[in-house]
Amino acid sequence: MKEKILEIISNYNKDKTRLMDILHDIQSIAGYVDAESIELLHKELGISASQVREVISFYHFYSSEPLGKVNIYLNDSVTAIMHGREAILETFEKECNVKEGSVSEDGQFGLFHTSCIGMNDQEPAAIINGKMFTRLTPYRVKEIVKDLKSGKDIKELIYEGDGGGRNALPGIHSMVCNNIRRRSALLTHDYTPFDVTKKVLANTSPEAIIDVVEASNIRGRGGAGFPTGMKWKFGRKAVGDHHVIICNADEGEPGTFKDRVILTEFPELVFEGMVIAGYAVGADIGLLYLRYEYKYLLNYLNGILADMRSKKLLGNGINKIEGFNFDIRIQLGAGAYICGEESALIESLEGKRGEPRDKPPFPVERGYLNYPTVVNNVETLALIPKIITKGSDWFLGLGNKASAGTKILSISGDCNYPGIYEVEWGTTIKDILDMSGSLDVQAIQVAGPSGALIGEKDFGRQISYTDLPTGGSMIVFGKERDILNDVVMNFLNFFIEESCGSCSTCRNMTSVLKERFTKILNGRGVKSDIDDLLNWSELLKVSRCGLGQTAANPITSSITNFRHLYENLIQKDVVFDTGFDLEESVKASCAAVGRQPILHNM
Ligand code: SF4
Repeated sequence: MKEKILEIISNYNKDKTRLMDILHDIQSIAGYVDAESIELLHKELGISASQVREVISFYHFYSSEPLGKVNIYLNDSVTAIMHGREAILETFEKECNVKEGSVSEDGQFGLFHTSCIGMNDQEPAAIINGKMFTRLTPYRVKEIVKDLKSGKDIKELIYEGDGGGRNALPGIHSMVCNNIRRRSALLTHDYTPFDVTKKVLANTSPEAIIDVVEASNIRGRGGAGFPTGMKWKFGRKAVGDHHVIICNADEGEPGTFKDRVILTEFPELVFEGMVIAGYAVGADIGLLYLRYEYKYLLNYLNGILADMRSKKLLGNGINKIEGFNFDIRIQLGAGAYICGEESALIESLEGKRGEPRDKPPFPVERGYLNYPTVVNNVETLALIPKIITKGSDWFLGLGNKASAGTKILSISGDCNYPGIYEVEWGTTIKDILDMSGSLDVQAIQVAGPSGALIGEKDFGRQISYTDLPTGGSMIVFGKERDILNDVVMNFLNFFIEESCGSCSTCRNMTSVLKERFTKILNGRGVKSDIDDLLNWSELLKVSRCGLGQTAANPITSSITNFRHLYENLIQKDVVFDTGFDLEESVKASCAAVGRQPILHNM
């Protein structure tokens, strides 16, 4: 094994910034990263063993402990739970003889939970040895486990047919469905791949390309909405030995899955968008950071890049344009929501824990390896070739004044037609509910847990940067859903799990909020608890990055729009209590020392 590990390390020229790839490769042959491998990495890469361990422990899909021969990662997003996750979990536990969060005694099966895996439109879903299994039923789980026990290869288990579209290609061979329900500017096939690269770039200056992008008023589709043309201008002006274009394909916001579909059906648009960005900014390095959950697309996407290279659409002197040297590498993530934040993503690309950097400096000045770096979202980049081809006026003619163009929404939950919908900015929530077949709606989570939980009084509002901004996630909750227990609690747990832990506010206050929230759910809350939740939520806003700054949104937004649910639960005749629960405290302390609690009502 030692020889193999050394070979892997030398495959990456002992480059410590490629630690993510090295760990993936080690884990793929050894099943986990053991102490001997960590020691070798320390010696060969020149980083401390504790640094290696810190990286391994940071990411959900690395392990320094033996995993199972077969590893099952079952999604625990709110939509998975709404669609029967519990029965799936029970069946896996029974059939594999393993409890969630552990490995079976015979070492055959590992069963773990994981945050949203980008399959909200086809839940319950799980990743089994890197392959995506969707629309699971207890019956199907029994079949899968039986086949695994009989020694069948994981690929043979995808026998319910592929998911259609390019999912059927041998390079993907996936049962994932695209579920494209509405097409507009981006999702239509009125585009000849690489026409802009072949026909436009040689006759157009980089500055003129930026001018078109700026005139189109396109803003980043990832959520923050920064004007793309301005970002490119800053990137071009910044001084550095190299310039870098990063495509952020780490969509991890629970409820979003649009990038999955764009990367499956329109990868040429994304890669050409990166090439155009590279030309405009003067970049020579292109990186696409692909979330681990979409690993099933990796070979297919690399195949397209290889094809582009063979056609001189990547590499030195692209399309014979002198000095235009640009190539793209795909970096596979390893499971960490925070890596969707651009500076955390850059840290991860450099082989480190994905912890957000202090800003300034911003990535456009000093980003990947301290080079000026432009980070754009998948959807943003995919729109660029069309904007260059059809012109900025075409794009400005879509959407509204503040928000030009279209937005791809990932709609899931209690609707008849979950999937992706490309709509113009300015579309109302009511129209979105109608087109997705959402009936008897109690609430919608707009823009994931960090966004807003809205109720009926807001259904006339529009998706727009000036009204309801969104990165694309929309989860619909019907009238029968328990908003506090099932939705808000799930989102709180998500933030607690995904906090990188750097800031004390984000690390601690999320748990403190959960504790007080739980007190209310248990019927022991008083009115001041609601006020405490709102006041303490303010403390989170000083956190370093967007995760911590928005981690209280499930609480504040549900109190703002569904306050009656809280008020129904609090004790009306108690004005103040200390929040101390003797019974719970006794139970907890007894559990810690392994004793049976003697409760006062026993
Ligand atoms: Fe990490 Fe949270 Fe601080 Fe962001 S806010 S840097 S996720 S601890």
